[in-house]
Parts: sequence; structure tokens; C-alpha cells
Amino acid sequence: AFVPEREDQTAAIRGRTLHKSHSLNSVVASSNKVNLLDFDRQGLRDFFTQIGEKPYRAEQVMKWIYHDLEDNFENMTDVGKALRAKLTEACYIGAPKTLLDKVATDGTHKWLLGMDSGNAIETVYIPEPTRGTLCVSSQIGCALNCQFCSTGAQGFNRNLSTAEIIGQVWVAAKYLGNVTHQNRRITNVVMMGMGEPLANFDNVLKAMKLMRDDLGFGLASKRVTLSTAGLVPLIDQLSDAIDVSLAVSLHAANDELRTELMPINKRYPIAELLAACQRWVARKPRTSITFEYTLMKGVNDQPEHARQLIKLMRKLPTCKVNLIPFNPFPGTQFARSDAAAIHDFQSQLLNAGVLTMLRRTRGDDIDAACGQLAGQVADRTRRSAELRKRQNQGALHAL
Ligand code: SAH
Repeated sequence: AFVPEREDQTAAIRGRTLHKSHSLNSVVASSNKVNLLDFDRQGLRDFFTQIGEKPYRAEQVMKWIYHDLEDNFENMTDVGKALRAKLTEACYIGAPKTLLDKVATDGTHKWLLGMDSGNAIETVYIPEPTRGTLCVSSQIGCALNCQFCSTGAQGFNRNLSTAEIIGQVWVAAKYLGNVTHQNRRITNVVMMGMGEPLANFDNVLKAMKLMRDDLGFGLASKRVTLSTAGLVPLIDQLSDAIDVSLAVSLHAANDELRTELMPINKRYPIAELLAACQRWVARKPRTSITFEYTLMKGVNDQPEHARQLIKLMRKLPTCKVNLIPFNPFPGTQFARSDAAAIHDFQSQLLNAGVLTMLRRTRGDDIDAACGQLAGQVADRTRRSAELRKRQNQGALHAL
């Protein structure tokens, strides 16, 4: 989970389960009804036109959905009775169902949200004194197979719909008592949960438009961040489509190691990725890119790796590095770097003038930290079977 901080502080190992599936009035999808959470503002206006209504009505309803977190048309008092009946007939406001929610000792909150047929995804809320960050998932599982990520090990099932993505914000906002423009509990959203957001481009784009829209959650461009493993052509496409912040998962500054850790590097090697980042910065001069670098013991945490990273960052002088101590998960072959190695790595970068932050580990007692989100994935890639085999072999070795 996402928390840029300078100090490393591991949360106490004690989680507690709070409520089981409290009622959120989420409407069960009925086959022929339209879920209004699937539309951005323009889509909603078009839909209202299609059903013979004035487009401004769409904006009235949108405000009810995202500012008042209302999912029952009958409670939308400034919408006429006839239209309320028509809407109830034709559509619904259906956020994902909460199967489980947990709070970590440090206040980090994780929801397990039910999708279809045995699938579930995870959404994490990280409260801090001056902000509250929601970490949102974009896919059920992930197809990229990054070696150090537990979502990758789960395999891939499918993309989330726009409703399932923005619905995560809606559920968390409702749970936390968020009020847009008044009592903001969610000040930032990061697309850093399960999945590769750029691989689900259209739905993620619509959901991010709703996060940014004044009639949606009304978040500024700096407060909505998309994190990608580096799908180069889609980085360019994103910069044309919307103003949001960009984070890039780097994890190694040489191609050989990066390809080993992240197979996507074979398709889009570092030079191409950097060129895309330079184009992004050129088009959005006021923004910077954050490079995420997960520190794994003896793998990418040595002084030579820091030197390679420094050299690379010289090509993007306005960008910064976010170091993430590796978060372990069952069956992984990697370990977290020692505190001293993390400290030295950061110092080396800082001394070279690279703006470098250390992401504090949050919520790890409830497996809510970066790379620990696994949900329940009906795996279509059979990758989870391989992981189980690895886990069993590990258990045998331990005997
Ligand atoms: N697919 C996107 C979104 C995932 S974001 C991306 O790759 O950017 C989650 C962040 O946590 C990424 O930077 C990811 O590389 C990192 N991460 C994954 N597994 C991790 C682990 N076990 N420990 C620490 N960070 C991890």
C-alpha cells in the first residue's frame, strides 16, 4: 500500500477483524438494468438523452451518487417522482459488495470486495495526519507476472468494469463518512492495488475521470495517481487523455535484472520506458513522475544498483524515487533488504541529488502492504497452481 514517508517503521503484528459485510444497500445486478456507476459524466448525459431526459438531470443524479453517496433513487428529493420511477425501472447504482473489512493496528483499512463467481479484490485505505490515501484495484489478478508481487502470483482473471473501480472509492467513502468538498477522508487515490491499470485502459480512464470530476469525487490531478509497470504506448495515450499523476514501477535500472524481475521489460525495455517518461514530462511540465523501487535483499539493493539508478535519474532531473521495502508473502523467494542496506541505498541517492523517499510500510499485519494484495482470483492462467507447488516445495525444504 502507498505511503511515501522518510522513515521506515514496521507496524505491530496484530490485526483485528471488525465488521463482516455491513449493509451498504448495494443493489444486486439485475441482468438488463444499467449500472450508473459505469458512466463518466459524458456517458451519463448521453444515457439520460437516450431515455428521453434532459442531460442536466444526469448531473443532478451524479451529484447524489458521488457527493451524497446515495444509491436509492427514491431518496433523490430534487428529482421528480416520475423520473425516479423511470430510473428505478431502467437502472441501478451498484457498488461492489463488502465481504470483509479489516483494520490494522496502524489504522490502515482493507476491504475485500466481492465481484462475480468466486472472485474478490482488495481496496486499502491509509490514514495519515494530513491526508487519507485510497489504494484502488484495476483488475482481478494481474497478467504481468512480476516475480516479487503476490497479485502476479495469483494469475489473471479479468478486467474490472468502471463501476467496479469507482465503486471501490464509493464503498470506502461511504464507510469512512467522506463528504466531497466538506469532510474529505479520502484526499488521494492511487491506482496501486491489484492489477495493471493501463492494461484496463478505458475503464480505468472513465473511473479516474469520475475521481477528478467536480460532480464526482472532485480530486485535483496531483491527488489521483496511476502506477504502471511500464506499458509504453499506453503511457503516451494516458497523457493525451487525462491530467493525473504518474508513477512508474522500475525496481531495477539495468535491463538484465529488470527483465528477470518484470517480464514486461522484454517488450518495453528501460530505454523505451525512459523515453516515454521524458515525453510525459515534456507534455506536462508542471508534473513529475515517481519511480517506485522495491528493495529486495541481495537482488537490487547494492551500491552498484544505486549507481545505475542515479545515472538513469539524471535523464529525468525533475522526477523522484520512492523506495519500498519489499513486503513478503507466502511462497516468495525474495526477502526485505536489511534496514542498513535500505538506509545506505537512500543516502547514496540523496547524496547524488536524487529526490528519494522511503515508503513506510503500512498495514502489513493485515496483508495490506504493497504487493500483498491477493484477493480471491479464479485464476485463468494457472499461475496460482505454480505458486502452490513452490510453497509446497518450500515446506518440504523446511522439513
Ligand atoms: N501494476 C501496477 C500497479 C501495482 S502498484 C504497477 O506495477 O505499478 C503496486 C506497487 O507495489 C508497484 O510499484 C509494485 O511493483 C510494488 N510491489 C509489488 N509487489 C511488492 C512487494 N511484495 N513488496 C513491495 N512492493 C511491491
